[in-house]
Amino acid sequence: MAITISQHRIDGAPFRPSPNHGSAFAAGLPDAIIVHFTGGASAESSVSWLVNPQSKASAHVVIGRDGSIVQLVPFDTVAWHAGASSHGGRTGYNRFSIGIELDNPGRLKRTEGGDYVASFGRKYPPDMVIAATHRNERVESYWLAYTEPQLESAFALCSALCQHYPIHEILGHEEIAPGRKDDPGPAFPLDAMRYRLINRGRDEDTGFRRKPSGDIDPGAPAITQGFVTASLLNFRAEPRPTADPVAPPLPRGTLVDVLDQKAGWHQVRVNGKIGWLKSEYVKTA
Ligand SMILES: [Zn+2]
Repeated sequence: MAITISQHRIDGAPFRPSPNHGSAFAAGLPDAIIVHFTGGASAESSVSWLVNPQSKASAHVVIGRDGSIVQLVPFDTVAWHAGASSHGGRTGYNRFSIGIELDNPGRLKRTEGGDYVASFGRKYPPDMVIAATHRNERVESYWLAYTEPQLESAFALCSALCQHYPIHEILGHEEIAPGRKDDPGPAFPLDAMRYRLINRGRDEDTGFRRKPSGDIDPGAPAITQGFVTASLLNFRAEPRPTADPVAPPLPRGTLVDVLDQKAGWHQVRVNGKIGWLKSEYVKTA
């Protein structure tokens, strides 16, 4: 999927203008993308709220669980999505960043009966739920998986934005307002997206770089990219079901660099870590 942008709007995407915006960005901006979840029940309900003057909040776009994108504010205009925020010496991220909202209910509670329930009362089936530890926390909690179409749209949009604007930061709301915000949460492959869109452009070599040990260098360029399709996929040190994990299991939708394949296993890199995934749960481009 490729997304194109003309006159600060996504070509072909519905535009539902929100009054909740500031003036035009200053010269050389936006240079950052902030990823959010809506915390709402549906993309439509979130769009309705963000175009309502009473909400005093918006983002530039909302991405639904079917991957569809609705734009609310043109990309040359400050939208009100970040609130009080700071990172790397800058404060007030609205004036630097494009805000992307993904339809997702946010943190779920597990009831004694084993149901997973959103703050607004809806129950979600266990096979859509990820148990993971938030980057700002120490204890595991429950999150609704993002859908593959939704992650593909988010990735395609961020890729187009990086080509169109001088983007050098892709951050979660949870990283610019820690303690106050927990979106997009551990179900969103933020580190993988950042690695792929911001850092990878710095790779200068082509072809695999093998270390003397025969291992692939952590900076080796990938053959291709893929997504994890299982709700949680073991990430192992060797291509064997009993091998040790190299990192916690990867949530559905995690973007991986595929480095090698053999006998039903894909060797992949995620956030600089290299290990093996069962091939049947990796969808490659
Ligand atoms: Zn947010």
